Amino acid sequence: MGLIMYDVVIIGSGPAGLSASIYAKRAGLSALTLEQNPMSGGQVLNTYEVDNYPGLPGINGFDLGMKFREHADKIQCEFKSSTVCGIKKVESGFRVETDQDEIFAKTVIAAMGATHAKLNLPGEDELSGKGVSYCATCDGAFFRGKVTAVIGGGDVAAEDAVFLSRSCEKVYLIHRRDELRAAAVLQKEVMDLPNVEILWDTVAERIEGNEKVDALAVKNVKTGKKERLSVDGVFVAVGIIPFSDIIKEVADCDERGYLIAGEDCVTGTPGIFAAGDIRSKKLRQVVTAVADGANAVTSVLEYLSVS
Ligand code: NAP
Repeated sequence: MGLIMYDVVIIGSGPAGLSASIYAKRAGLSALTLEQNPMSGGQVLNTYEVDNYPGLPGINGFDLGMKFREHADKIQCEFKSSTVCGIKKVESGFRVETDQDEIFAKTVIAAMGATHAKLNLPGEDELSGKGVSYCATCDGAFFRGKVTAVIGGGDVAAEDAVFLSRSCEKVYLIHRRDELRAAAVLQKEVMDLPNVEILWDTVAERIEGNEKVDALAVKNVKTGKKERLSVDGVFVAVGIIPFSDIIKEVADCDERGYLIAGEDCVTGTPGIFAAGDIRSKKLRQVVTAVADGANAVTSVLEYLSVS
């Protein structure tokens, strides 16, 4: 049997990967989407509620992910469950090495996504989606008039505190040091807000609650003083980890591990495209991920037409 050379292999089946699969199929490309597990689906499947995807207010994350998947299945996109171990440049394209075999493609769309760093606190996993969130712009609206805590001191933590302060009665910003890492302009903005209280030199020790979050246990690392804050929500903003290890050898990442590519999803390596949360960009949401999938395929088409 002759070697199959796909026009495009899409790695990842979250919103970016599924959007790319749909666009590639509709464009008439021979495309294979690789996913780690059958219907991997990405972070959206674990999101309790998505209230900012236009046209589907309040949809459950799992349902939204499944709708994307049903769409791809309906138009007969090709999927394969396997774990990608490495990607190598070969003369006519790329060799994608998986735990089962090798797949050849003229182009690769990397849509492996990213994950929010966790604190691994007691209660964090158990109460995830029940008051513990890793995305204020996604979940903040559920805490209108409530008391929330943001953990972290970077740009995301400061932006989250500012965002939440607009709808929450009170926001605690909990940072382990005595100065924020966030940009100066953001620091000023957050410090000027009357309903944001910054707890310096403070670490979270435990998130408490049964069916939902009701308190956060914290400790001042300088004085040793412990406190139990009554809160309805805890936003963890201690960094993001992109799943880019398998592609680092063939495409450039920034210092945080994101694949460097603009809105057209074109990386510095001809034939490799980056879509979704793995791409260096400002806003990581379902709506921007699906846009990337479409843009990546458009760039693949342009690349194939000239190469
Ligand atoms: P980040 O800049 O890496 O900040 C992570 C924060 O979490 C730091 O303040 C860090 O504390 C804290 N942290 C990490 N591990 C912790 C732990 N185990 N316990 C307690 N605190 C912990 O990450 P980010 O805020 O998610 O931002 C990611 C990137 O996106 C950054 O490059 C950021 O500049 C960029 N970004 C830019 C903008 C913008 O330009 N408007 C907006 C959003 C994000 P320490 O400070 O003590 O290390």
